[in-house]
Amino acid sequence: MPRLPEGLGLPRIINAADTYSEIGGSVVAPEVADAMAQAARVYVPMEKLQDAVGERIAAITRTEAGMVSAGAAAGLAMATISCTVGNDAARAARLPHEGSDAPAVILQRCQRIPYDHAIRMTGARLVEIGFCDQTAEWELSAALEDGAAAFVHIAGTPFERHAIDLPRACALCHDHGVPVIVDAAAQLPPVENLWRYGEQGADLVVFSGGKGLNGPQGSGIVAGRADLIAAARAHMSPNHGFGRAMKLGREQIVGLMVALELFVARDWKKQHETWETRVAHVVDAFDGKLGLTAERLWPGRLGQHYPRAFIGWSGNPAPRDLIAELASGDPQIHLDLHEDARRGVTINPMVLTNDEEVDIVIRALLGSSLTRNAKAPVT
Ligand SMILES: *Cc1c(COP(=O)(O)O)cnc(C)c1O
Repeated sequence: MPRLPEGLGLPRIINAADTYSEIGGSVVAPEVADAMAQAARVYVPMEKLQDAVGERIAAITRTEAGMVSAGAAAGLAMATISCTVGNDAARAARLPHEGSDAPAVILQRCQRIPYDHAIRMTGARLVEIGFCDQTAEWELSAALEDGAAAFVHIAGTPFERHAIDLPRACALCHDHGVPVIVDAAAQLPPVENLWRYGEQGADLVVFSGGKGLNGPQGSGIVAGRADLIAAARAHMSPNHGFGRAMKLGREQIVGLMVALELFVARDWKKQHETWETRVAHVVDAFDGKLGLTAERLWPGRLGQHYPRAFIGWSGNPAPRDLIAELASGDPQIHLDLHEDARRGVTINPMVLTNDEEVDIVIRALLGSSLTRNAKAPVT
């Protein structure tokens, strides 16, 4: 089993929650780790490396061009400036935008997320349209009439519930010559999402490398129009300028590429069988026992294609408290709250690293306050 350096006092973690950055996101395959270790030990012309990897990203995502970014949030920042400054070196040198110079980036209010700091850090002015539960097309048209450098769409079922359909938004934006950036950071799997947003009209699409792709935690992908990718790359590492503060290591670039290729080549039928078996195992262990309900959920929290196991109950402990209890054990076990936080917890087979961890999670739940408070004994 892989280990961290000793003496740091760090706990062992079993992740059954999600690709959360605060516990490392996701884990890489041995092939990815090997490629990163090899890359770290040699010198490499960084621009040529990005060119070559960018071409492979473009081929896989069926776009004109691609690049690796230092995470999806960094990709969002770079995508934003590619739209706001393009190839204007003098304007790029003055970034972040200030005062009356600040271009507008349109975002729907129902899509505000904590990552929109990546857009605002460029100094671009966020123009919000719509409300938390509705957006009208005329609001987008009006904002486009006022002039904008980009429109940003956040992909994912909870964010898209009240948003204008992406193909429709793209059509309206393109009528005004305004590029569309799609933040699809956590939208993998399914593998088809790698090209779906581009096909729906997005000019740039951003993915996280450190989530469902199982790439380096500090990596991401930006793919789309060649002129915009070229503009972003001109203002990022290894060059100076705005993006230099989001420097990319060659380990990230190489590791991301290997992870992406493994992701598209994965036997997805077999992968889903593995995930379904894990979920069924958890459901079997708890459904109808101890006053609990357990069931298979589909899809993932943000609409991704993977099943989850749900365990629900009423009364004590509060789901939040049970999660805290298991996360303070040894090993720490991380579960997620159900979307309705009062109903129960979810177990995510995608982020578990092997089948044995499923049994560890089940045993931990059986030894927790959840079963101690249960109405009926285990039979
Ligand atoms: C995770 C996430 C990001 C940030 O991705 P990083 O690779 O961690 O920088 C941005 N947007 C959304 C919607 C996300 O889920």
